[in-house]
Amino acid sequence: MVDLRSQYLKIKDEVDTAVQEVIDSCMFINGPAVHQFKDNLGNYLGAKHVIPCANGTDALMVSMMALGLKPGDEVITASFTFIATAEVIAVLGLTPILVDADPETFNIDPQAIEKAITPKTKAIVPVHLFGQCADMERIMDIAKKHDLYVIEDTCQAIGADYIYLDGRKKKAGTIGDIGCTSFFPSKNLGCYGDGGAIFTNDDKLAEDMRAIVNHGMKERYYHEMIGVNSRLDSIQAAILDIKLKHLDEYAKERNRAADYYDKAFKDHSKIKTPVRSKNSNHVFHQYTLLLSEDADREGLQNFLKEKDVPAMIYYPVPLHLQEAYLSDRFKEGDLPVTEELSRRVISLPMSTELDEEQLEYITSSVLEYLG
Ligand SMILES: *Cc1c(COP(=O)(O)O)cnc(C)c1O
Repeated sequence: MVDLRSQYLKIKDEVDTAVQEVIDSCMFINGPAVHQFKDNLGNYLGAKHVIPCANGTDALMVSMMALGLKPGDEVITASFTFIATAEVIAVLGLTPILVDADPETFNIDPQAIEKAITPKTKAIVPVHLFGQCADMERIMDIAKKHDLYVIEDTCQAIGADYIYLDGRKKKAGTIGDIGCTSFFPSKNLGCYGDGGAIFTNDDKLAEDMRAIVNHGMKERYYHEMIGVNSRLDSIQAAILDIKLKHLDEYAKERNRAADYYDKAFKDHSKIKTPVRSKNSNHVFHQYTLLLSEDADREGLQNFLKEKDVPAMIYYPVPLHLQEAYLSDRFKEGDLPVTEELSRRVISLPMSTELDEEQLEYITSSVLEYLG
């Protein structure tokens, strides 16, 4: 699905030198590379504080710990997303309230959020799915009206701009109280292992989150709060600092591939190409088609596999129907848009390195099967 090798080869000298520098310094944990990357990422995003951590899942968990959410509190998030978002809610003993998606953008539906609010609701976690921002302006209005926290799951949309109705722009992850991201290798800004980060403009939250990722200590060996061990290591930070400089160019490359796909599938009766939201630009973490009801998705996926074209289903089972999350609260049919998407979406290869020949091969293979 992603071509990490070709991408590495283009920046190999720079990366190899930076990694060797960290090894020579022996400052593997919390070294200067971590601080440099954290500052550069903060400047890029326009976020006052960046707290690096071990992965995107931890970023979400640490955020919820810092907000002081207590068992029984309800947290509203999307059912159509990767499991990590709901998982940390459950791990902390909070109650995940999974809501439906917007049928056009596949992002969390603000109206569904509002309907799900109860006196126990404490936070909303919008996910900027597949590389495009959720409707943050409406979500922030709802949060303000009901006095709720907003934690943005920006794992798939780092670098995307949210565009306000009045034309102002802000980076995904810097609008709510806290933003979270992952540097998993296949993400838009990926390292060569695991990594993550949390952003906020709130000084107090930043101070607490910095303590939480470091065993809950502000002063060494004095543990003010319950924490965890969640660090971004120096080698990963050094790699990320190099890749951050290319992030906008990477987004352009992904958009180039997306435009090619769009054109190839334009007006096809069985294919709906990704809808570009008015509130966001798209950084195409995934390029996801919505097939018509009569299209044979499994047949297409198998046909593509035979032709060596990887195509994936993100996500085949909505979170509210996952075995571990079954409860009296949800049953099949409750979130019709999400369930429909799970049955009909398919994601095509997307990376910064897709050339015309590959794009032509992929699109003609899809069209050969679908007719
Ligand atoms: C990747 C991802 C995560 C988790 O990130 P990890 O670094 O793998 O822990 C969380 N949410 C979404 C939407 C993701 O895509």
